[in-house]
Amino acid sequence: MRVLVTGGAGFVGSHLVDAHVARGDDVVVVDDLSTGRLDNIEAHVQAGRVRFCQGLAEDPAVLYPAFEGVELVYHLAAAVGVFRILAHPLASIRTNLDASSAVFELAAARGIRTLFTSTSEVYGKNASDALKESDDTIYGATKVHRWLYAVSKATDEFLALAQCQESGLPVTIVRLFNTTGPRQTGAYGMVVPRFVRQALEGQPLTVFGDGSQLRCFANVHDVVAAMMALAATPAAVGEVVNVGNPRETSISDLAALVCRIVGSKSPVQLVDYQAAYGAGFEDMRRRVPDVSLLRSLIGFVPTTPLEETIAEIARDLARDLAPS
Ligand code: UDP
Repeated sequence: MRVLVTGGAGFVGSHLVDAHVARGDDVVVVDDLSTGRLDNIEAHVQAGRVRFCQGLAEDPAVLYPAFEGVELVYHLAAAVGVFRILAHPLASIRTNLDASSAVFELAAARGIRTLFTSTSEVYGKNASDALKESDDTIYGATKVHRWLYAVSKATDEFLALAQCQESGLPVTIVRLFNTTGPRQTGAYGMVVPRFVRQALEGQPLTVFGDGSQLRCFANVHDVVAAMMALAATPAAVGEVVNVGNPRETSISDLAALVCRIVGSKSPVQLVDYQAAYGAGFEDMRRRVPDVSLLRSLIGFVPTTPLEETIAEIARDLARDLAPS
């Protein structure tokens, strides 16, 4: 099978590429390398297993040739990370809307099975116990830039569902909750690789706010397995599906866990939100997925313990940090 992964040089995308290459598929990657790294897929490109098309997913000169012979599309190319979205709001809106619109349009015209990666951010400030796909989205004021990410991804979901209804696009929307693992960079805000790096370097672990905010972290390998299973499940067409590990952890507990696993004596440093993200930032207090729909569709959900994932990230980063 030939598979197209937009954003395939990024964190989740490159693991998806690995898994499809391992299965014997031909893979085409479209990535502008704004946040993705060629390193992540270089070995497959060298081995002739991946065709790499550098450019924007919304550019027809890049997208049309990339679509040749493709039977399955994963659309992941998007603005990444809270830091980057706050620093580049305009580019983030454009990337999220234009690329999705172009990819869905072409996939719909050719009737190609498509998976779109949305995000738990679309639930916004809804902090209920276990967020179901049918739950309300709750956003803050438009002057708070953080919400542009949620709203642009939610608009992409509307687009995908509209293409499904009106043009028969066989699409599944996956709402990824916090996903982590090797290759994830902390440069754009992601807390787990940031803490692991700080712990390995003996720097203070920067806990934003009071550390009582709660998140659920899934291992990227589990997430990729779930995405591939959804792509092969006809009943998932037209559905919005949460993908995440329902185990909850406070950010303070995460800091302590990282220090224990890495064997680091780094102290915790509380940093107020304003210093971390600038004035007017609103954090999500809690974000827990209800994964019953995922389980009913594919028969499993992400369960790798956070401890194992932290150890895996530490091994990966330690290689990077080791003097050569
Ligand atoms: N966070 C933190 N220290 C950091 C980076 C992030 O305490 O160095 C917090 C952040 O404010 C949020 C949580 O960790 O409450 C998860 O942040 P991340 O950016 O990884 O994901 P998201 O905010 O999208 O859930």
